[in-house]
Amino acid sequence: MSPTNAEVFAHAQSVIPGGVNSPVRAYGSVGGTPPFLASARGAYVTDVEGREYVDLVGSWGPALLGHAHPAVVEAVQQAAARGLSFGAPTTTETELVAAIRHRVPSAENVRLVSTGTEATMTALRLARAVTGRDLVVKFAGCYHGHVDALLAQAGSGLATLALPGSAGVSAAVAAETIVLPYNDLAAVEAAFAEHGPRIAAVITEAAPANMGVVPPVPGYNAALRRLTLEHGALLIQDEVLTGFRVGFSGWWGLEGLREGWSPDLFTFGKVIGGGLPVAAVGGRRDVMRMLAPVGPVYQAGTLSGNPVATAAGLATLQHADATVYRTVDEASTRLREAVTHALAHAGVPHAMQWAGSLFSIMFGPGAATGGARDYAAVQATEHWRYGPFFHALLEAGVSAPPSPFEAWFVSAAHDDEALSRIEAALPAAARAAAE
Ligand code: PLP
Repeated sequence: MSPTNAEVFAHAQSVIPGGVNSPVRAYGSVGGTPPFLASARGAYVTDVEGREYVDLVGSWGPALLGHAHPAVVEAVQQAAARGLSFGAPTTTETELVAAIRHRVPSAENVRLVSTGTEATMTALRLARAVTGRDLVVKFAGCYHGHVDALLAQAGSGLATLALPGSAGVSAAVAAETIVLPYNDLAAVEAAFAEHGPRIAAVITEAAPANMGVVPPVPGYNAALRRLTLEHGALLIQDEVLTGFRVGFSGWWGLEGLREGWSPDLFTFGKVIGGGLPVAAVGGRRDVMRMLAPVGPVYQAGTLSGNPVATAAGLATLQHADATVYRTVDEASTRLREAVTHALAHAGVPHAMQWAGSLFSIMFGPGAATGGARDYAAVQATEHWRYGPFFHALLEAGVSAPPSPFEAWFVSAAHDDEALSRIEAALPAAARAAAE
């Protein structure tokens, strides 16, 4: 007889902190036992008990084509048969970088790494090296991986020098990060007025999706571009989550490409690995050429550009065509409308917030009047309604992200059948959220 989720979770907890290798998987904010997954295909995941769920987590972003897309699996199998890791250059790495550059030409040079965390960490190091400055501006509620300098969360007031957002971050490191409220240009202007000559970079999620989805107000990213240029700081646009998910050229394709501007550096991840560990930092050639071995900024990785992982990423980008993006957009729109309809029918005040195909639900009457534009507004929503909503969905075989502060991820494999299953589960979930 197969083990239960509770049994395997208990065993995992005895040998792994919290039983998980990334905290949100532990269901801390919704409670209960996380299903331990045994397999995934298309829009569905199956747990160790043999229960199938329609999946709206999508491995937190990579599964744009759906899980275990046959072309990606085949590319991985073929690459694996040729060797798992060489620690030497391969042509697949160059092909993957060329595919990224084809979509985002202003990523003139690209360095492949294994995680988004490494990408943002490298971007900061580059920015400091190029400018000779030490401070970094980030926005409250934006997540850029677990880089010490970027774990700082909400600072109060303008240009607040952040306190450590995680134990174990030294005060010296935290003091080099200025945390500002998102979507607040006056705060950015004030930070530059006070600390301008010391600010190496502004780093921002292209469209934040790690405090729930909080899209930039129109013109916000362009204004960050203008202000960083005026003050000689670099703009780092973190597209680890949005890159090649919200469109062919990522969020930049929806904004910078149309408006004629680019950040100095991009970070990518998730989709470019197609489910295996690949991320990237890329951008201005002169900045990227600061990296070793041509420049003085050190950066390296035993598994960077791994042949199996890059094969998965390349196959994913090769298959992510206009049809895929249209399918994902349509599925997302249908789902947003269904969620809104169910919640409205159950009398639950809420705002549906979205950026491209990414979306999340903000509960509460405050949210309903205009949505949340920053982290403080997100925290003031009735996010406690999400737990019962989530568990009613899970009970009905729908796996939504186990936190109100995460985006919902749909894939090109979310067809009518998968969406219909979710729609059937929504009325009961909405009633649970109403209580
Ligand atoms: N940047 C953004 C915008 C992310 O969403 C994430 C991960 O969720 C990261 C960086 C970190 O990426 P990784 O988890 O691969 O280190």
